Amino acid sequence: MRLGFDIDGVIANFSLPLIERINKEYNVAVKESDIYCYDLNIVFGITKTEEATLVEDILINNLPLYDGAKETLEKLTREGHSIYLLTGRWGHLRDATVAWLKEKGVPYTELHLLDVGKKHQANIVPMDVIVEDSLTEALEWSNKVKNIFIYDHPWNKTLNLRGLIKRVYCWNEIYHEIQQLQTRQK
Ligand SMILES: [Mg+2]
Repeated sequence: MRLGFDIDGVIANFSLPLIERINKEYNVAVKESDIYCYDLNIVFGITKTEEATLVEDILINNLPLYDGAKETLEKLTREGHSIYLLTGRWGHLRDATVAWLKEKGVPYTELHLLDVGKKHQANIVPMDVIVEDSLTEALEWSNKVKNIFIYDHPWNKTLNLRGLIKRVYCWNEIYHEIQQLQTRQK
């Protein structure tokens, strides 16, 4: 299958270094649960420009991986799936992103750096699965892709009234869900 994965908030733990930085810089005790929505300028009460600088600073540092991300992507690759990394990171971060993926040993088939908020418009091959942490992106993808998984975080809560997305809590669960889809396709 063709599997599309977002990077930040799905593969890379962006919130951990972000919170450390915010707590140090502003002398506060922010917790992950305080990040109640995706827009950091709203959450922290900073300008969009400050947000962009902050985000880039965090992204170019060596972000940790979520538990099981690398191992699961390796397993999926061995099983013959194609791994498309679909990130809203800015284009000028391509080299830094490629170097980080290499250093962390994250396997992938293709890497696409796409405009934030326009990922779903990307001209890429049809995907069988998308794993996202942004509700906006996930819901937009649901017009094109049948299986949308949202990686659970405080910033992506929803009543999910139409069931357009399925919530997943860890990489083991992502693997399990993909296995189930594969079985159903056969
Ligand atoms: Mg993300």
